[in-house]
This record gives sequence, structure tokens and C-alpha cells, in this order.
Amino acid sequence: MRVTANIDAGNIEVIDIANKDDIRLAIRRDAGDEFLQWFNFRFEGVVGNQYTLKIVNAGKSSYPKGWQEYHAVASYDRQHWFRLPTRYEQGELIIDLALDADAIQIAYFAPYSYERHLDLLSAVQVHPEVTLEHLGLTLDGRDMTLVKVGDGAEHKKNIWITARQHPGETMAEWLVEGLLYRLLDSDDPVSKQLLDKANFYIVPNMNPDGSVRGHLRTNAVGTNLNREWQTPSLEKSPEVYYVVNKMKATGVDLFYDVHGDEGLPYVFLAGCEGVPSWDARMQQLQDEFERALLLVSPDFQTEFGYGKDEAGKANLTIASNWVAETFKCLSNTLEMPFKDNQNLADPMEGWSPARCIHFGEASLTAMLAVVDKLR
Ligand SMILES: [Zn+2]
Repeated sequence: MRVTANIDAGNIEVIDIANKDDIRLAIRRDAGDEFLQWFNFRFEGVVGNQYTLKIVNAGKSSYPKGWQEYHAVASYDRQHWFRLPTRYEQGELIIDLALDADAIQIAYFAPYSYERHLDLLSAVQVHPEVTLEHLGLTLDGRDMTLVKVGDGAEHKKNIWITARQHPGETMAEWLVEGLLYRLLDSDDPVSKQLLDKANFYIVPNMNPDGSVRGHLRTNAVGTNLNREWQTPSLEKSPEVYYVVNKMKATGVDLFYDVHGDEGLPYVFLAGCEGVPSWDARMQQLQDEFERALLLVSPDFQTEFGYGKDEAGKANLTIASNWVAETFKCLSNTLEMPFKDNQNLADPMEGWSPARCIHFGEASLTAMLAVVDKLR
């Protein structure tokens, strides 16, 4: 038996691997020591054997409720990800495994690797409507890359999409992949009309350092980027600093900040009802966008989600609130589950890369439904 987390986005520590029925593992904390939840490792054993893996510090994680009704994600070929029998008992996440091949990768959610991120940037840049812009460097020296789609014409609306401020929320970049490829399909009438009406500014990965390091929520120096938007700094949060400056240069008419939620088994929006300048126009845009999403994807729902902030009480350090208040525009955090979508359950795969991709594609239709009213 062998366990290794020395891989892209790897995170696990081996405590005891002597007994195949009691393999004891622990999640390493993100830089900053505040968060732990993301795990990702490879396990090798003997084909046909049964193993029981226990993540013994699951009860000390950032979102212990995330382990209820949760099933770990695994893959033999690193293409198809499926769910393993998993239970949460007395603070331990217990995964039962019957090995069908020599090695299996097990993770909190299907990883979206840094190499795949580079593949995505390289694939889209050959499209005539796409320009890649280097915004600056992260603290580990990785590129912050903005994908610009469209000619930047001033009469067009400016749609901004960001993903993976919280790097362990890999579902966000799977969504962006689906959205981008649909947007660049010149046979797709929704995309063609959207590009006649809007410029797109897309940051597929807001936190490449945290992604490679195997963090759930922070960057290389332990900063939670989604609390930095009022006062980003080159020392703590250059990722946000560069994006904020670019947004001020382009303007924003629609913002879609894509995330994953550990606890809730649903796809939902968190709007900006609590920002000081919230008004009837912003409420109407919000209502229309929600109605459009309900129509384009039965994976979306509005019954379950976060409580709405009281009027004027929104936390303006959060990206979607800061953007709504600064640009008086339609601005949302989109949340997808780590678990399954309880409205359309899939016991084999749960919420999956393919479903994220579909939701990214569908999101464009909802954006087309509101684009004429954005400004
Ligand atoms: Zn998040």
C-alpha cells in the first residue's frame, strides 16, 4: 500500500498505513492555518482487495456539515470521476474502497489541474475573437491571465466572469470551460448574438497558487481572496488587485463569480440585495436573471440558498457585493455543490464536471435573456 499527495493540487498526510482496514490520513491546512477541507491523493494497493481509508481530522475541517451526505470522488483514468461509498462518523470521514486497478486518485471534488488550465487558455487563444491579457504575477510567480472575448467596443455591455477565488472549488473552472467553448462556437446562435451585444472578460482561475498547492480557500500567503475586494494589496492579494484595476478600466455590466458550497446540495445564486445602492432596477435585473436560469437549467433552483443580507448590511469585501456597489450592475455569486444536486440526484457521479460544463453553457442563454437591459 502506498499513498502520495505529491501531485498537482495534492493534499493529504499519512498518519498510519500499516492496516488496510484502518488507513489513517489527515488533511493538511491551507496556508494561513485557518482552513482545511480539500483533499486529493493517489492510493496504490492490490487489485481486488478492500480498503478502509479514514480522514481522521475531518471533524476539525472548515465545514464539518460538508461531510454529511457527502461521497468522495475518485478516478482510475483521471478522466471519469465517480463517487465512493463514504460515511462521516465521530469526526472521521471513512471511505470504503474495492480496488479495480493498481492505483486510484481520490479527491474532494474532480480536480481541475494547472495543466488543464493552461490547455484551456491555449485552446481558446487561437479563436479570432479571443485575446489573452497577462494581468500580473501571483505571489508564487504564476500568471494571472484574463481571457478577453470580443472587440471591446464601447457600446457593448461588459460581462465579467471569475472562478476559483477559492481554489478547492474546482467546479467553478469546469463551469468556465463549458461556458467558454460554447461562447466560441460560431455555429451557436446564442453565442453569436451575445458577442454582438457584449464583451466578455473571463478569469478562469483567480487563485492559481492555491490551486497548485492544494488549498480549499486561500492563496500562497493564506489570504481568503473573497474578502479582499475593498482593499486588495500587492502583498496579500495581488490576484484581486489586478482584476479590480482592470474592472475599473473596462466597466462592469454583469458579474458572475463562480464558487462551490461545501454544505448545501443545490445550485443557487447569492445576490447583492444588501449593498447600499440596491434599488428597484437592480432587483428587477436579479429577478429576470433568476427566472432565465430556472428556464435554461433544471439544475438551478431558488428555494435553497443563503439568507439575504439586510438592506445596507452587505459585506463589501466580497467580490459580488463590491462589484454591485461599485458598478451598480447585476452581480452574483453562483454556488454549486460538492455533494450532489438533490433536485436531480445522480448517485454514481453526484455533481460532476459534465454537469458543471452544462451549467456553464446554459448560463450564456440566461445572460442573453438580460443583456439588453444591463445598462
Ligand atoms: Zn467559494
